[in-house]
Amino acid sequence: MSTILNAKTPAGPLAGKWERHKQDNPLVAPANRRKYTVIVVGTGLAGGGAAATLGELGYNVLNFCIQDTPRRAHSVAAQGGINAAKNYQGDGDSIYRLFYDTIKGGDYRSREANVYRLAELSTAIIDQCVAAGVPFAREYGGTLANRSFGGVQVSRTFYARGQTGQQLLLGVYSALMRQVAAGTVRLVHRYEMVDLVVDKGRARGIIARDLVTGALKRFAADAIVMATGGYSPVYYLSTNAVNCNGTAIWACHKRGALFANPCFTQIHPTCIPQAGEYQSKLTLMSESLRNDGRVWVPLKPGDPRGPNEIPEAERDYFLERRYPAFGNLVPRDIASRAAKTVCDAGQGVGLSGFGVYLDFTDAIQRLGRDVVTDRYGNLFTMYEEITAEDPYHVPMRIYPAPHYVMGGLWVDYNLESTIPGLFVGGEANFSDHGANRLGASALMQGLADGYFILPRTVASSLAGMKPGEVKAESEAFAAVEAETDARFKRLLAIKGTRTVRDLHMSLGKVMMKEVGMSRNASGLETAIAEIGKLRQAFWNDLRVPGEAAELNKNLEQANRLADFIELGELMARDALMREESCGGHLRDEHVTPEGEAKRDDENFMFVAAWQWQGEGKAHTMIKEPLVYEDIEVKTRSYK
Ligand SMILES: Cc1cc2nc3c(=O)[nH]c(=O)nc-3n(C[C@H](O)[C@H](O)[C@H](O)COP(=O)(O)OP(=O)(O)OC[C@H]3O[C@@H](n4cnc5c(N)ncnc54)[C@H](O)[C@@H]3O)c2cc1C
Repeated sequence: MSTILNAKTPAGPLAGKWERHKQDNPLVAPANRRKYTVIVVGTGLAGGGAAATLGELGYNVLNFCIQDTPRRAHSVAAQGGINAAKNYQGDGDSIYRLFYDTIKGGDYRSREANVYRLAELSTAIIDQCVAAGVPFAREYGGTLANRSFGGVQVSRTFYARGQTGQQLLLGVYSALMRQVAAGTVRLVHRYEMVDLVVDKGRARGIIARDLVTGALKRFAADAIVMATGGYSPVYYLSTNAVNCNGTAIWACHKRGALFANPCFTQIHPTCIPQAGEYQSKLTLMSESLRNDGRVWVPLKPGDPRGPNEIPEAERDYFLERRYPAFGNLVPRDIASRAAKTVCDAGQGVGLSGFGVYLDFTDAIQRLGRDVVTDRYGNLFTMYEEITAEDPYHVPMRIYPAPHYVMGGLWVDYNLESTIPGLFVGGEANFSDHGANRLGASALMQGLADGYFILPRTVASSLAGMKPGEVKAESEAFAAVEAETDARFKRLLAIKGTRTVRDLHMSLGKVMMKEVGMSRNASGLETAIAEIGKLRQAFWNDLRVPGEAAELNKNLEQANRLADFIELGELMARDALMREESCGGHLRDEHVTPEGEAKRDDENFMFVAAWQWQGEGKAHTMIKEPLVYEDIEVKTRSYK
């Protein structure tokens, strides 16, 4: 492989690239499409959208998920909204502004052409969702309503209360089920993809485990789309569901797909603080709440008074103070770090001292309780159910938590990985968000990839190739299946003393402490050493009860944890290599005198794509240089 990656970005002016690319690339004739099989792993917005659209086009699609229904893909959890440059508010929005905000928000570490295409497609996404019946919030006159998310000065976020992901997913699901009924899409649910088959230089199929019986099965295809979501549970505690994992993309990585920017993770500022040692996940309180909620801490460290007893003059509205231009709606990386700074200074609230207030008193006075309920009612209810505190009367307590991963499998402009025939969409690819994702942009990206980009680029990859060249009965499939079988047997044979959960919690602690909101060389070296010890402990002292040929949750989780351990180590190595601060990646050694992230564009304006070299061997890094032709690269400021 060359040491410089080619993103295959089409030439010509930014604005026309995607249109021209679509014109320039070959199609598959309607009558031939049913001869091609496409595997789509994942039924979230990216995977479900791609499967439904490929099915509608006439391809033969197999769509996999680990849950019992596509409706439980983790996209269902998204709360706050989805961005689009419709400029319904007439407040100065445009495709260019969305593009600019996204590149700046990602701290100039994403690819211009991909981000521009995302901004262009954003408007079509909203039309498609409305056509599918997604009940977006509307203004009194019937037009679609918008709110703001962090890092922007316009209102471009479309939403359905605090349940936007669920409603969008139901739209995707309807489209998908239409294709299931039409016979173009076959759902393969409660199956986990555990390995990838590459033969004759192309991705040819997957090995998946039936999660109910434990049987390993082979599935062959002419192209494969990975849309398996994010891997934040590498931190153990995160806002993601416990089942979210990195196994499918890690398997692709080990079979040759490069892994890009693994250290770029997003620690979201507004989550309910951890309450105890044995909690299995954390709960997000949507960023949309920062439209109306004001973030503050007591001025005096260790102030024992309750929030309602602290007068205005003794409060520190630290985001409004430090970032007057964007106030409470600064991007997530900035808000998270600012919260950590005040908590580290002893001003944090709650029993642990790791919490800040998100206060709606002003909003309730200004807008009335009914309006606040209309906008955020379900989030307020959820908060009260979890904390037993009523946010209409007492400010919410929030603290940053791992939430989203900007890193993922490297893809070119076609969303194709470094393995021909293997495409990657949604949170699973590294794509468009650089070093920090702006709020409400993940749903946008998932649907852009799924509904619009992948169906077109997968078609171009199939055009001209003979369908069904490699069969599941082939040697290549047999070899990968045998390796997978051996891996599960190995996990069961350890018969040590430590549970998966215990080892996962240990990994999470190391990751959060050393590869979390701020990082430094010595901490990252410690993390690499600690993760190495954990890997030893895992393979020597893990205990997995039960058998392979049955529903075995512990075995599933053990297999995923083995991957998280390797991935966690790569995240630490990537963070150690990146001797700069950018977006969510803050190196203590590289900050401005005001404590803000200090980029090093001269040496680090590139995507770091890592190549697997075998178990126990160090990865090698390949660079994709980032070139900015349409945007002036500046120091990011929200002051
Ligand atoms: C609590 C929360 C709130 C959020 N709110 C917002 C928001 O308001 N706006 C926004 O833009 N973004 C939001 N996000 C981020 C956004 O929801 C996700 O990035 C996005 O939905 C991911 O979609 P996806 O299609 O890539 O993956 P997912 O929806 O996670 O789907 C992954 C799919 O892959 C399947 N899968 C995974 N592994 C395997 C395997 N090995 N084999 C077979 N199938 C597999 C799963 O079963 C699932 O079907 C939020 C995220 C969280 C956690």
